[in-house]
Amino acid sequence: MRARARNYSEIRDSVRALCAQFPASYWRDLDRERAYPKAFVEALTGAGFLAALIPEEVGGSGLPLSAAAAILEEVQAAGCNGAACHAQMYMMGTLLRHGNEAQKKKYLPQIASGKTRLQAFGVTEPASGTDTLNIATTAKRDGDRYLVNGQKIWTSRAEHSDLMLLLARTTPKEQVKKRSEGLSVFLVDMREAVGKGLVIRPIRTMMNHATTEIFIENLSVPAENLIGEEGHGFRYILSGMNAERILIAAECIGDAKWFIDKASGYANERSVFSRPIGQNQGVQFPIARAYAQMRAAELMVTEAASRYERGEDCGEEANLAKLLAADASWAAADMCVQTHGGFGFAEEYDIERKFRETRLYQVAPVSTNLILSFLAEHVLGLPRSY
Ligand SMILES: Cc1cc2nc3c(=O)[nH]c(=O)nc-3n(C[C@H](O)[C@H](O)[C@H](O)COP(=O)(O)OP(=O)(O)OC[C@H]3O[C@@H](n4cnc5c(N)ncnc54)[C@H](O)[C@@H]3O)c2cc1C
Repeated sequence: MRARARNYSEIRDSVRALCAQFPASYWRDLDRERAYPKAFVEALTGAGFLAALIPEEVGGSGLPLSAAAAILEEVQAAGCNGAACHAQMYMMGTLLRHGNEAQKKKYLPQIASGKTRLQAFGVTEPASGTDTLNIATTAKRDGDRYLVNGQKIWTSRAEHSDLMLLLARTTPKEQVKKRSEGLSVFLVDMREAVGKGLVIRPIRTMMNHATTEIFIENLSVPAENLIGEEGHGFRYILSGMNAERILIAAECIGDAKWFIDKASGYANERSVFSRPIGQNQGVQFPIARAYAQMRAAELMVTEAASRYERGEDCGEEANLAKLLAADASWAAADMCVQTHGGFGFAEEYDIERKFRETRLYQVAPVSTNLILSFLAEHVLGLPRSY
């Protein structure tokens, strides 16, 4: 692929050097076992990359969102998988923006140093699904503690995290003016909770994602672990969603670049009918189209991150970036399989693995339909559909 002037070239070089220590065979073996990439996550943490967004005064690098985006993009472009740890980057924002001084002082330095992992985000529930305001998990105040009951699903990395950000209803729906009120966010210490009201069950999925379901019964959470004010949790979660969308979009750009590089390389090398397959326009045009789609999405990711960093409203751009980048990575994945013919399906080429991994971003952390609904309603002024 044509070399371009890149931002954060030193960071990108360092990420690439780190990723080179985790070759395709490492990911292939883990994929087969559905095992967690512990060594990779430890290396990223040790190098300080997961603490990119944590302020310097509490031990992080204090870098802007675009730097974190560059890190995750490079991880994906190198054929690695940031899904094993990306949540820490955007989840700690809830603690940073809405946590009190004592919480920030206690947790942020530990998260920055890697001593404590904040990787689990307990929002989605089996019955409510996308309708987050309808969650059934409750937290009831009982003296200096809350008693939590309910169930979460798709709580990724729960088995590999020390802390979980948990969304629960603290005031019943019937007693609030708006459904978005009465929800609260808690920091749950998994080390204390597992076996004492919290059970984690892994869910096997089509890709290696360390996702789980969580059963919560009379779990006691200290009141001091409530983030911000009781009842305002949904707003705190929402405030982190633009960053989440931009970072996931950057990962999709990285995936798209990996597929495009892989396809270009193969189309040049593979000779059929005594000429490289890439000489056929039927093979080279889809690669060129995937490249165009990726570049357009990349510009939107850059635009969204710039607006975010300037403190401007970036809801539209963050959603557009996620939508376009997820579409670009999925289109590139499909093109890459096609370019490789039968070998696109062979494990040893890694394409089928990356294909399965990148498919997720049409659904999580927000599904394409919900982004389209947001654009239709909030940008185009169309009637609310749900
Ligand atoms: C591997 C994986 C990891 C995940 N990790 C986490 C995590 O760490 N933490 C967490 O909290 N969640 C996580 N999720 C959950 C993820 O965010 C949800 O799966 C996603 O938001 C969709 O919700 P749902 O699965 O309940 O689908 P549903 O809400 O049941 O929707 C099913 C389909 O219907 C569509 N749909 C629903 N309502 C509408 C509507 N009004 N208009 C148009 N279309 C609609 C949806 O777009 C979707 O395609 C993860 C999911 C997966 C698969």
